[in-house]
Amino acid sequence: MPINVAIIGSGLCGLACAISLRREGHHVTLYERYDFSGEVGSNISCASNGSRFLQKWGVDIERARPVVLTDMVWHDWSTGQITSKYPFGDYKGKFGTHYYSFHRRDIHAELKRTATSTEGQGPPAKLLLNHKAIGIDAERGWVKFENGLEITADLVIAADGIRSELRTAMGVETIATPSTSCCFRCIVTIETLEELGLTEYVTRNAIEYWGGMGIEKIVMSPAAGGDMICCYCFYPASKNDTREDGWNFSATPQQLVETFDTIEPNMKRLFARAEDIKMWRLYDHKPYTYWVKGKVALAGDSAHPMMPDQSQGAVSAFEDAGALGMIFSAENVRKESVGVLLKRYESLRKPRATMLQAASLRARLDLTERIGWSSVDKKPGKLTIEDVAGYKMEKHISTSWPELTVSF
Ligand SMILES: Cc1cc2nc3c(=O)[nH]c(=O)nc-3n(C[C@H](O)[C@H](O)[C@H](O)COP(=O)(O)OP(=O)(O)OC[C@H]3O[C@@H](n4cnc5c(N)ncnc54)[C@H](O)[C@@H]3O)c2cc1C
Repeated sequence: MPINVAIIGSGLCGLACAISLRREGHHVTLYERYDFSGEVGSNISCASNGSRFLQKWGVDIERARPVVLTDMVWHDWSTGQITSKYPFGDYKGKFGTHYYSFHRRDIHAELKRTATSTEGQGPPAKLLLNHKAIGIDAERGWVKFENGLEITADLVIAADGIRSELRTAMGVETIATPSTSCCFRCIVTIETLEELGLTEYVTRNAIEYWGGMGIEKIVMSPAAGGDMICCYCFYPASKNDTREDGWNFSATPQQLVETFDTIEPNMKRLFARAEDIKMWRLYDHKPYTYWVKGKVALAGDSAHPMMPDQSQGAVSAFEDAGALGMIFSAENVRKESVGVLLKRYESLRKPRATMLQAASLRARLDLTERIGWSSVDKKPGKLTIEDVAGYKMEKHISTSWPELTVSF
């Protein structure tokens, strides 16, 4: 104690892992392949099972300009009338923290600041940009970078995203099939909403839905302290059969309006004024056979990429980071080897993340599977808000392994 930790990738997961492990006194270095933040213009809904870790780690949530979400609202596709509502009620009272909507760039910046700041508990993490990992030896904890640097660490976290090359280098087989769904994401600023007379999309503080029974669905939430709304607009891949992949393929308002030609008039007006429109191809990733090997662990999207339909991808990455911090506490590291602790991490996290992957896939075509709406529908077998937002990891760890020391 302390141990040296190398984290590959400084997305939301890598940064969260850096904060969680520095709080336990470990020496953390983050290696990021680019020299800028790849975070894009959209929002991250952060349920309590993620935000309780942000709070625990001392992340200044207010500085990340959240909107506190209070309701879910379902609109009729062709008229726009509200047909159903799910109020979150006393969410903070029940689950300990609010349900937040962040702009991705804001929460990324705040996590980066918290990870590397000299303030707060534990040694500040170092962040090295322009360091692309190109090879690993998992047993030795050895990583090689494109710029020639070679390092060894006691623990390596592969937080290198959905297309993780380290996952492949660890021998994990990736089985991913193109989804029948594609997605446009876009933003609309508050100034435009004022001109259009549609400011209720911000002031309602709600996640708003159109469609959702089948492929077509619009999901909208306010973000950036109410300065904008962010929309995810799902449509059948067959409409344009795009093979383009990734976050940064631009589209035009006209493409958006044409793709959703049967949507209600207000949404058409809104789409015509949308900005920062990007196309996004979805893939269905089967759960991986293992997450850890030697001194290396997968975390975040490299471990459990999921459909966005439960808004749980980043939140699950925060859970991974929370788990690593608790399992690799100073006391546990003194008692058990890195290899043993990593096995515990995998057995704790993999079943829960796999369950969320499956629930996210179901919600792709059936909005009544979405946590929250699942409580309105009340059909057995669906994940409830209590299952997800009310999860207490510390209890899970201490009942599974009473010999581990856990604090929250
Ligand atoms: C449309 C959409 C909406 C979403 N909405 C939500 C939501 O509301 N709530 C929610 O919880 N989740 C949401 N998610 C999921 C969430 O965005 C992801 O789960 C989360 O961002 C994953 O973070 P990550 O750090 O694991 O991966 P990434 O963000 O992909 O970060 C990986 C990092 O690793 C770096 N990297 C990659 N390879 C290397 C290498 N070889 N060497 C060094 N660095 C490398 C990359 O440059 C990047 O910085 C959404 C996702 C999408 C696509």
